[in-house]
Amino acid sequence: MDAISYQRAADIRAALQAASQPGTMYIGGGTNLLDLMKGGVARPTRLVDITHIDALNGVTTLPDGGLRIGALVRNSDAANHAWVRERYPLLSQALLAGASAQLRNMATVGGNLMQRTRCYYFYDTGFPQCNKRAPGSGCAALEGNNRIHAILGASSQCVATNPSDMSVALAALDAVVRVTGPQGERTIPFAEFHRLPGDRPDLDTTLKPGELITAVDLPPPLFAGHSKYLKVRDRASYAFALVSVAAALQMDGNTVKAARIALGGVAHKPWRANATESALIGKPLDRASLQNAAALAVRDARPLRENGFKVALAQRAIVRAVEQAGGTA
Ligand code: SF4
Repeated sequence: MDAISYQRAADIRAALQAASQPGTMYIGGGTNLLDLMKGGVARPTRLVDITHIDALNGVTTLPDGGLRIGALVRNSDAANHAWVRERYPLLSQALLAGASAQLRNMATVGGNLMQRTRCYYFYDTGFPQCNKRAPGSGCAALEGNNRIHAILGASSQCVATNPSDMSVALAALDAVVRVTGPQGERTIPFAEFHRLPGDRPDLDTTLKPGELITAVDLPPPLFAGHSKYLKVRDRASYAFALVSVAAALQMDGNTVKAARIALGGVAHKPWRANATESALIGKPLDRASLQNAAALAVRDARPLRENGFKVALAQRAIVRAVEQAGGTA
């Protein structure tokens, strides 16, 4: 058994000071971290409990009409908040598609951003090969069971996927992550928050040591009238996405004026389908236009032995999600 010290931080300054010691991790809802610790995947020597820091809580409006969601807001509270439901239904849908009601009641927005891959080999320490858990050890999934793994943006070091539903919606909505750390406060555009594996698959995000997520900012709501989060999974609840699509549109009659499309379950980070978005603009929402645009999202796909089905599934899911967002399905 590992010895772990515990400290409850009263404010952000105390949390940052405590986290300056090596081996420290922040803990909020703990819905992923405690699993990782029980399995011996995460081995912090010190936990800093941030759940009593008032400055990390609350949902507030921003001067530009956007919304700030504190890092400690529970997933269920964020999903059911009136402003989120009315102005960002895409985010509400994505949050409610994730995990179970019990987990959503504990999990926080900041923790959701930090949840780690569900690759079987990452969680099973009986498998020595996992570059994400043990850098330099290899990747058991490359030639092993890889049905749930990435088809886009992977590397020879790691083919894991990001498991978050919430993050797919935030990617489509061009959210901004607010963090604070030893060097002060900074903001990270959502597209730059999660990483592709490259040769450092042990790093999931661009957070620097000791940095703490304080909030997520949403830009003004431009897509509330036409959005859809579609999640395809092996069973109806409490399962991670094989493929998911966050689709948000601005429509001019039946013509697409603006589009935001992000995919989950296909890459190490929420995958923004920029070419699909561009192809949709100025087009009517007919099946042929949608299929052509959806094909662009997977033109660089590199499926593994067991997950080739994701290439077709992603295209069909994009078509379905965009049709539903546009009100034609
Ligand atoms: Fe580890 Fe990534 Fe390979 Fe899974 S895919 S075994 S997380 S290195």
